Amino acid sequence: MQGRIEVITGPMFSGKSTELIKRVEKYKAEGYKVQAYKPLMDNRYAVNSIVSHNNEKTRALPVSSVDEILATLALDTEVVALDEVQFFDERVLVLANQLASSNKILIAAGLNLDFKGDPFCFLNSKRTMYELISQAGKVDVLSAVCDYVENDVKCGKHATKTQRMVNGEPAPYDSQLVLVGASEAYCARCSKHHFVPGKHEKA
Ligand SMILES: [Zn+2]
Repeated sequence: MQGRIEVITGPMFSGKSTELIKRVEKYKAEGYKVQAYKPLMDNRYAVNSIVSHNNEKTRALPVSSVDEILATLALDTEVVALDEVQFFDERVLVLANQLASSNKILIAAGLNLDFKGDPFCFLNSKRTMYELISQAGKVDVLSAVCDYVENDVKCGKHATKTQRMVNGEPAPYDSQLVLVGASEAYCARCSKHHFVPGKHEKA
């Protein structure tokens, strides 16, 4: 088998996990040995599986670091799947290339942009998802549906951005990327309806 990196990206609610689950199940059905992982912090739905917003699921091992992936990866594994790949640290870039050059397939699903509309940085790093995307042999950029409502009419256009709301208001540019405990919500927006107060002052 020829190794390669496949990236599934796009905003929240664009079906990235659904697509990842579909590919994992397809490779399993074809008889490949597959191992799936997700970052430990992502416990939205279930601990030992990747679950899509539509409630499809596949087994995945929650890990807190790239080292834990390396420590648990079986030699004969042919396909490695990573969900929410943007939450790992930048060593995931090295891992991705190691897997591809050892004739394994890496399927990585994750956000391309943060809530500000900027390239998503890996944990404690300035290196971004676009570096992983640039090394991929197959990239699928999915879109969601803009849920902005104006005069009782939903926009409905292709959403390429993730809108972050904190206490009902668009989150400002300088708010923390990960905020635990606040009343926050995310939705999908087209570029016209993606609001980041304070962004243009810095651009
Ligand atoms: Zn819109």
